[in-house]
Amino acid sequence: MNPIKMVDLHNQYAKIKNEIDSEILKVIDSTAFINGPSVKDFQTHLEQYLKVKHVIPCGNGTDALQCAMMALGLQRGDEVITTSFTFIATAEVIALLGLTPVVVDVLPDTFCIDPEKIRQAITPKTKAIVPVHLFGQCANMEEILKIAKEFQLYVIEDNAQAIGADYTFKDGSQKKSGTMGNIGCTSFFPSKNLGCYGDGGAIFTNDDSLAEMLRCIVNHGMKVRYYHDYIGVNSRLDSIQAAVLNIKLKHLDEYNAARQKAAQYYNQRLSSCSKVITPVVAPFTNHVFHQYTLKIIDADRNQLQNYLQSKDIPAMIYYPVALHQQKAYQDPRYHEGDFPVSEMLGKCVLSLPMHTELEHEQQDFIVDAILDFLK
Ligand SMILES: *Cc1c(COP(=O)(O)O)cnc(C)c1O
Repeated sequence: MNPIKMVDLHNQYAKIKNEIDSEILKVIDSTAFINGPSVKDFQTHLEQYLKVKHVIPCGNGTDALQCAMMALGLQRGDEVITTSFTFIATAEVIALLGLTPVVVDVLPDTFCIDPEKIRQAITPKTKAIVPVHLFGQCANMEEILKIAKEFQLYVIEDNAQAIGADYTFKDGSQKKSGTMGNIGCTSFFPSKNLGCYGDGGAIFTNDDSLAEMLRCIVNHGMKVRYYHDYIGVNSRLDSIQAAVLNIKLKHLDEYNAARQKAAQYYNQRLSSCSKVITPVVAPFTNHVFHQYTLKIIDADRNQLQNYLQSKDIPAMIYYPVALHQQKAYQDPRYHEGDFPVSEMLGKCVLSLPMHTELEHEQQDFIVDAILDFLK
């Protein structure tokens, strides 16, 4: 059996090595390292894949979120509603821009933001909602878009973990995750479902004027070289990363299907164990399993993690500490116990190895160890 890794990028690379190596060498040979043809190609291919009018490539997923908030003209003091159970980047950029993060709890089954709680958190200062499509499934966008319309709020989707997921609306129509709100943001960090070989990110929108603004903002706020219409940032996807992404995008559906198959096998093998709750998928979305996350009940989650570690099985806690409990985000508005679901999840979640190259033999070894510990 091959050693078990949380994410196995090496074996994935081995299968596309020839194509990747030759495309990277082409970029080096061309010396068009910034804004070369591969960036434009990738932008077009991703627009087609997502069926979205505009893709604006940028430096990483955190910048994507920051630029989105800058493009919407959010001002110091404006309130932005987001979830207490996410990777810190979501809230980080809200705070960095001097906006006020307003935290709401998640649903205990899907771990995504609770629309009812969003409604309760709205004040006259609220300007935007940032739902996170956590671990690979979409938040309840139909409800979120309804609330946004009612209160005239912007919606920025944090799609860093769910690229390729499909959302089905009540009328049967479907959209790709990240293309439903005013702006969608994603990350191409190597371990994401569509990962490059360094940092990368992108912003999506169907709004022409927002797209024009975003293209300026990611490039020092300039439309015409050396004429700066806005205060921007330097956040570009480099040509080598775009070349890698052009190849990997062709495999994205196949990669997501491999993750789904691995998840199904975990589900099947763990279904008989009363001490774990396997991932729950909401009816309006599919799940592309950026993470395969269990809830461990009536057992010591930390001891289980240590036990797996002793057998060279990596397992991670995403996320151990909710936003309002983070040292840097202490806020007199929030106290221990205010977001009980996030706090509870921090104590009981455990993510198992999940990637495109998992073998049944490895999954059996992982599950046998879990069942052995929990018996
Ligand atoms: C990875 C991630 C980000 C940030 O992406 P980077 O490319 O690492 O900056 C933002 N939000 C979520 C939910 C993420 O998982």
